[in-house]
Amino acid sequence: MTEQIPPVNQSAIDVYPLCQPDPSKSCGACCGLYNWEDHSRKALIPLLEKRSALFFSLGRDPEIFQKACTREKLPPDSKLLEEIHNCEFLGFLDGKKKRVGCLLHPSVNEGRDLRDYCFYGKEICAGHFCPSHTHLTRVEQKSVLAAIEDWYLYGLVVTDIDLVKEFFHHVQNRLGDSLREERLEKWRVREALREFFALKESWKFTSCRKRLGKYYFSHSEYQVARIEYEKDWRIKPSRFDKILLSLESDFQTPEDILEAEAIIEGKISGFLRAYEG
Ligand code: SF4
Ligand code: SF4
Repeated sequence: MTEQIPPVNQSAIDVYPLCQPDPSKSCGACCGLYNWEDHSRKALIPLLEKRSALFFSLGRDPEIFQKACTREKLPPDSKLLEEIHNCEFLGFLDGKKKRVGCLLHPSVNEGRDLRDYCFYGKEICAGHFCPSHTHLTRVEQKSVLAAIEDWYLYGLVVTDIDLVKEFFHHVQNRLGDSLREERLEKWRVREALREFFALKESWKFTSCRKRLGKYYFSHSEYQVARIEYEKDWRIKPSRFDKILLSLESDFQTPEDILEAEAIIEGKISGFLRAYEG
């Protein structure tokens, strides 16, 4: 597969600063990347590898590729939400498998825009910018970009507006000041931020239900999850409630919640030490 993937046109990276920000990472969330019951890194890597290998080995012909996907029964897993399209043309764009993206994009196909072969069509694909583009402030966007160099975690975090905003809310309240973009240049600050965001992938209290961030999926519908503090344990909601929901938390006891809060507190304190140090 490595030899078959052509170099990507750098100009595509420059035009889509959140989607294709740099050679170390990219996002494919709105193309259905995580809309699988099992959207773990381990499950997604072989799927993206197979799609790219097929696409490039079949001469980048979308119709032949689609037939091959049907023949190979790609993908094998069930979707989280049936109504969201999981595009078969999402794959790895580089041989090192650092960037996910659109195999039909002109930057991958020597200027030919093949996105009309997709369910959405090229106008919708080209014109779509998710809410993170407008809802995250510049410094919030820069923080995610500076902290994460990994497509899997990057896509999960850059589209989780609550997680990013809540982190900023807590640290800025404690600082009594806005986060300054120039401090993100410090390696320790970026590392502490990455450690917080990495909770998305390694959270001790992850729910077994079908979840993606704060949403849970049931009978082809999705709803915002809730943690029933008062009803289940007669306690007040956690100060980190939004973060706990973004992390897909499911708790069995109030002690679990205390432990979860301590973990988050530790990440926030670690960030503040690095930032102020
Ligand atoms: S989800 Fe947002 S950041 Fe990710 S590829 Fe789509 S538009 Fe870009
Ligand atoms: S064709 Fe459209 S939906 Fe499919 S991967 Fe490309 S941009 Fe995403």
